[in-house]
Order: sequence, then C-alpha cells, then structure tokens
Amino acid sequence: MVKTVLITGASRGIGAATAEIFADNGYNVIINYNKNHERAKQIASKTGGNLIQADVSDIAQTEKMIDSIISEYGKIDVLVNNAGISVTGTFDSISDEDARRLFDVNIFGTFNCTKLVLPHMLRRKYGKIINVSSMWGQVGASCEVHYSASKAAVIGFTKALAKEVGPSGITVNCVSPGFISTDMTACYTKEEVNAICEEIPVGRTGSPYEVAQAVFYLASEQAAYITGQVLGINGGMIV
Ligand code: NAP
Repeated sequence: MVKTVLITGASRGIGAATAEIFADNGYNVIINYNKNHERAKQIASKTGGNLIQADVSDIAQTEKMIDSIISEYGKIDVLVNNAGISVTGTFDSISDEDARRLFDVNIFGTFNCTKLVLPHMLRRKYGKIINVSSMWGQVGASCEVHYSASKAAVIGFTKALAKEVGPSGITVNCVSPGFISTDMTACYTKEEVNAICEEIPVGRTGSPYEVAQAVFYLASEQAAYITGQVLGINGGMIV
C-alpha cells in the first residue's frame, strides 16, 4: 500500500527537497506551506504531491489540514515537522512579538501537527515522526538565542515523545542540520559563508538534499530500531 507523508514547510529549502525524495520513492506527498503558494505549486508539479496551505502555528488551520488529509488518504504514515523560521540579533534586541512568533512556529507548530496526527498513528500502531532541529539547538548560537532555545526544545520533545509512543509502534527522531544553503541562510555574504566553511571539517555548506536523505532514512524500515535520536547533518561542524 502506498505510504503517505506530510511535510510541513515544503514549499522551499529542506522541506521541498524532502518532498522530492519521498516522491521519488513512491510516497503520496502532502506539501504544506504557509504563504508562498507559487513555490509550493512548483514543488507540487515536480513531485505530483498535493498542496495544503496552513499556518502550523494555528491549531484551527492545522486541524483543518489534517482532517482533509485523513479524509482523502485515510492515514498519515510519516510526519515531517520541518516548518521553521529564524530570528537573528542580540538577545535583548529581539522583540517579544518576534520571540513569540518564533516559538509559535518552531515549537507550537511541531506540537500542533504531532497532536493532531498522533491519534491516527496510535490507532494503526504505526508511524514515523521526524522533527527538524538545528545544530544550534545542541550547542547554542550567539545572536540566535531564541532560535537556539526553540530548536533545543525540539530535541527535548523528540526524546520524550519517543519514550512515550515507542510501545505503540511509533518512532520519533530528529535531524539536526548545520549550515544548509537555503533561503534561511541566504542573508549571509559570500565572505561570511567562506569564513563559516573554514569551521566545517568537510569544507563546505550542506545542501537541502543531504538533509532530506537523512529524513528519508529515518522514515524507512531500515531505521525501525532507531528512536529518540538526534542525527547531525553538519559536515562535522559539531561532533
Ligand atoms: P526556508 O527555506 O526558509 O523554508 C521555510 C519553510 O517553512 C517554507 O516552506 C515556509 O513556507 C515554511 N513555513 C514557515 N512558517 C510556516 C508556518 N507558520 N506554517 C507552515 N509553514 C511555514 O528554511 P529551511 O532552511 O529550508 O529550513 C527548514 C527547517 O530546517 C527549519 O525548521 C529550520 O529551522 C531548519 N534548519 C535550517 C538550517 C539551514 O541552515 N537552512 C539549519 C538548521 C535547521 P512559505 O514558503 O509558505 O513561507
């Protein structure tokens, strides 16, 4: 039976690459996005996937999205909680509004999707949840304190939920990307990227496809005995 994957934030970057890899491997791919309809449409036509707009930080919109997927496909085998935003600046320069928005998307977006998908997985005693954290959630980044805290929370969430739902046939893991070339990192100048590459043992930035391959692996049966883990995809930048 064809498996179904929901990837949040799949209109661009890591989410879009993940959609392509699951589609290449025969999955029904559901492409969630928030604002960028044109980019999402391009990925949908490339992957044959279905588009669903929803701001994952909004529980009502998320509920509508999950209900419509369940009524069309009957199940969600794999949930990839990828949607995320970043805010940069010194800790005291970030407004409360920006901080709340960051946590709403990066943490509550993950909670909302998981909360609504989990009952369907529990009923079938099958499911794979893959969360997208960041190496900054592991080691912290100066001028990205809020972002680092939100991504550390994703790691805590992954480990705790893995323990809770392991007995029900569901695995929960997270990938922890390093510096990946996407819109999120497009703000860095060439000089800054070169300086960062000097800190990366493999000497280059990562591609969204390299993260997507790791996500796909964690969703595969080859990874059936892996749960509660944090898989770094960072070229050795943190070890
Ligand atoms: P990106 O290119 O900026 O794409 C972000 C994606 O998230 C877009 O598809 C965007 O949709 C979606 N999104 C944002 N807010 C959303 C919301 N409220 N509801 C639904 N979708 C939403 O980012 P990326 O670099 O691919 O990052 C993907 C994930 O990897 C994020 O969680 C990020 O924190 C994490 N990460 C990235 C890096 C890196 O170096 N790039 C490193 C570590 C971790 P729209 O197009 O509709 O706005």
